[in-house]
Amino acid sequence: VDEPLDELIAGLTVDIPDHPEPGVVFRDLTPVFADGRAFRRMIDGLAAPGASDPRAAALAGPAPHPPGDPGFDVVVGVEARGFLLAAAVALDAGVGVVLVRKAGKLPRERVSADYALEYGTATLELHTDAIRPGQRVLIVDDVLATGGTLGAAIALVEQLGGVVAAVSVVVELAALAGRQRLAPHTVHALWTT
Ligand code: AMP
Repeated sequence: VDEPLDELIAGLTVDIPDHPEPGVVFRDLTPVFADGRAFRRMIDGLAAPGASDPRAAALAGPAPHPPGDPGFDVVVGVEARGFLLAAAVALDAGVGVVLVRKAGKLPRERVSADYALEYGTATLELHTDAIRPGQRVLIVDDVLATGGTLGAAIALVEQLGGVVAAVSVVVELAALAGRQRLAPHTVHALWTT
């Protein structure tokens, strides 16, 4: 019998105290990615909540969405570890993957959003033609800390008329209240700590 997914992820995650600066406990998920069985279960888990947001479910039609419809039309991954997750989820679901990147990386017309990190500040960008109005979007990343990063990703998707079906993360750091910051969007976390 398989252990619960949160225990599997917690057991493989390595905590690094005071990285990248004093007071931050960095959660290194690379061993979870590197473990084939854990990676499989993590990708399945991230894809699960596609139609759980009532606004997206309404667009998808009743019941909550037809067979073969994962509940989202595209997966957005946030640079950099989110790319790995988004690609695998999208491939599995039979939809495309879209990149939310750090400033200066995308070569064409783009929208930008500034945000504050648990440590530092930054800007995220998205090509303006990457999302079509009304598309149901699943946004994925590895860690939800303060929610600044995912808040910016949501803002970019919505600026282009996308409908955020759900936000999926591997780890939610509950003490930083990122979930509250992203409300009313649905946050689906595989492990909350
Ligand atoms: P935030 O914007 O505060 O929610 O931070 C989330 C982003 O920063 C994610 O993309 C994470 O990869 C990274 N991050 C923030 N805090 C941590 C942490 N304690 N351990 C690992 N990654 C983190």
